Amino acid sequence: MNVLVINCGSSSLKYQLINSESEEVLAKGLCERIGMDGARLNHTPAGGEKVVIESPMPDHTVAVQMVIDALTDANHGVVKSLDEIDAVGHRIVHGGEKFASSVVINEEVIKAIEECNDLAPLHNPANLIGIRACQKIMANVPMVAVFDTAFHQTMPEKAYMYGLPYEYYEKYKVRRYGFHGTSHDFVSSRAAEILGKTREDLKIIVCHLGNGASISAVKNGKCVDTSMGLTPLEGLIMGTRCGDIDPAIVEFIANKENLTVSEVNNVMNKKSGVEGMSRVSSDFRDLSKAMDEGNALAKMALEAYTYRVAKYIGSYVAAMNGVDVIAFTAGIGENDGRVRAMVGEYLDYLGCGIDAEKNAIRGEEVIISRPDDKVTVMVVPTNEELAIARQTVALV
Ligand code: AMP
Repeated sequence: MNVLVINCGSSSLKYQLINSESEEVLAKGLCERIGMDGARLNHTPAGGEKVVIESPMPDHTVAVQMVIDALTDANHGVVKSLDEIDAVGHRIVHGGEKFASSVVINEEVIKAIEECNDLAPLHNPANLIGIRACQKIMANVPMVAVFDTAFHQTMPEKAYMYGLPYEYYEKYKVRRYGFHGTSHDFVSSRAAEILGKTREDLKIIVCHLGNGASISAVKNGKCVDTSMGLTPLEGLIMGTRCGDIDPAIVEFIANKENLTVSEVNNVMNKKSGVEGMSRVSSDFRDLSKAMDEGNALAKMALEAYTYRVAKYIGSYVAAMNGVDVIAFTAGIGENDGRVRAMVGEYLDYLGCGIDAEKNAIRGEEVIISRPDDKVTVMVVPTNEELAIARQTVALV
């Protein structure tokens, strides 16, 4: 079965065509600048060269048509016709409390996703546009919605409720939802598999450290807590997001800088995190280089970043009354040995540490703790597209 995995943003559309039997990526690509000047499609067939097709994309329907054309093209295509695409899996950011697992898309599901738009106004409407565009072009192909929030729906009330008047939860569903759920699910499963154990018998902390970053506590196969909240702004310090701060800072800065609440929100999402702190970059390669060159703010940002990760690990050890496995994943978690080593400095009390030699390995599944450590620390590369493809196949 060939599954087209779609991740649709307001002006972009990322895709992968995955063969579900071999789990091979047949082709992948990205439509950029949809609805703007300079729209283009970057398409890479497996084992082939990247092709860049520059052509106007007034809307997402045109973008989806271009993706299909690229996938079926005589030169750089990977299938003969649309008939060889058996299902589509859509990444949907927010499923609210309505979706605790993936679902086959029908009109009722679309309506329920629309009802979550308020909770993710930048993402859900774009995800829905992607669904509609695919429906127009592939009317008979079954589609599945896979939610970033679904895996975290098992959190108990005590973990998802904020210390706010209960009416905000009743009226607006203000609570912790968590994101990157597909990744936390995939990585915690895979970590157990690598160790030859079942996830149901383990307490696992997954550190998804990418440009957006979140941590989750997975106890006996179920998520019991996670660091992102109503929105992806809460929790860890990220590339450009501030993570946890004193909520009173919003009003304080709004008054001092003469900004609206939305403008402060924008600063907290796009101009903060390690980029805002260091004045260097949100990219950890640049940050690390700057630190080596003696940049004090880059060092401070990296220290604050890893300290926050370590504090969350500690709080999830408390939440689960122990931990068996700590798994690092995503761009930084998979590639940045320095960040892992800096977090590792705080793990003595758990009876584990990080082996410098194993920690030098990049982007692979590897156990980086020492043989006799009480807690296994490991790197498990995430694969959200494959997870979406698997869930799609399971449902269709
Ligand atoms: P993601 O959001 O998971 O794609 O992660 C992207 C982030 O990973 C980038 O912004 C970088 O900060 C980080 N990253 C990617 N490659 C490396 C690397 N080789 N070393 C350190 N950080 C990396």
